[in-house]
Amino acid sequence: MAELGTITAQPREDDVPARDAGAATDVVGLSVIMPAFNEAPNLAEVVPRTAAVLAQIPDGFEILVVDDGSTDGTAEVMTELGKHHPELRLLRLRRNYGKSTALQAGFDRARGEIVVLMDADGQDRPEEILKLLKGLEDGLELATGRRVRRNDRVIKRHTSRVYNRVTAAVTGIEGEDFNSGLKAMKREVMNPLVLYGELHRYIPVLAQWNGFKVGEIDVDHAPRLHGTSKFGRARFWRGFLDLLTVKFITTYTGRPFHLFGGLGMAFGFAGGCLLAWMFVLKLMGRGIGDRPALIIGVFLAVVGVQLITLGLLAELIVHFRRDREPDLFVDQHKD
Ligand code: UDP
Ligand code: MG
Repeated sequence: MAELGTITAQPREDDVPARDAGAATDVVGLSVIMPAFNEAPNLAEVVPRTAAVLAQIPDGFEILVVDDGSTDGTAEVMTELGKHHPELRLLRLRRNYGKSTALQAGFDRARGEIVVLMDADGQDRPEEILKLLKGLEDGLELATGRRVRRNDRVIKRHTSRVYNRVTAAVTGIEGEDFNSGLKAMKREVMNPLVLYGELHRYIPVLAQWNGFKVGEIDVDHAPRLHGTSKFGRARFWRGFLDLLTVKFITTYTGRPFHLFGGLGMAFGFAGGCLLAWMFVLKLMGRGIGDRPALIIGVFLAVVGVQLITLGLLAELIVHFRRDREPDLFVDQHKD
């Protein structure tokens, strides 16, 4: 069964033109990862513009388009583009997995020393990549393009502002535009990132928690070239649930028992007190069968034990999960 899981999670990889995508030794200066869900007409414009801007990058570049289950002829457009752009690579996911999974598929295959994330709809202007690269030269390890004048609908701009403020307040990380599609980072920042669900909104939070220097740089933002946004209204509610996930991941990943164990002890203690009280009453010969305190005490004690057990299980998972540890060292120990 494990086999099956791997196959579905694995994107179909059609390199355009054919080349060995798996060759890790084949490092390039910069990778652009461009997730695209039904963006065929946009890709036809954005890819050539991006390639033109990046022509000046030393050590070469690649543009990795991750086709997230498109059904609009994206593959054909890419084949056509590939004839003129040897630096173009196409990853095709079997179905629409969502932006986070598309980005993760790109992470797993990007060969660049620097990795740039960019939307495929033309809202992120390729010219602005250079500003972010300057930010990396000046000491940032992850530079997010802060969209100064956003070309999105009014409602989205407002909800987005609330989302950014709450995220900054909850995580304690400075930022006004966490979810901007345009980002540039050093390879080390990308390596430990694990994106799924909608965690792509919190890349700066996860990166800073991993110890990297993150910052925002003002960039221009354009209207979408063709088509409509791929995210509906539900995104904001889900986004806030994900914020809880991120808060949990960044605070308790290394010590889940501190959360569950702490809660469990509090519940258990409260339940224990109530039951002790009932026990004393019983010894004094009073009837306790109809006392709400008895039921509440039993409830609290049971929940407390469950939380403690859950916490210990979570500790076991952390204990045995050492596969995707971030690079803990400031200096790169390459060998
Ligand atoms: N996207 C994707 N998979 C999805 C949804 C979106 O790859 O399931 C891509 C989309 O094609 C675009 C980027 O993510 O390149 C941002 O999406 P969109 O422009 O719809 O988001 P918005 O600008 O409205 O926030
Ligand atoms: Mg967009």
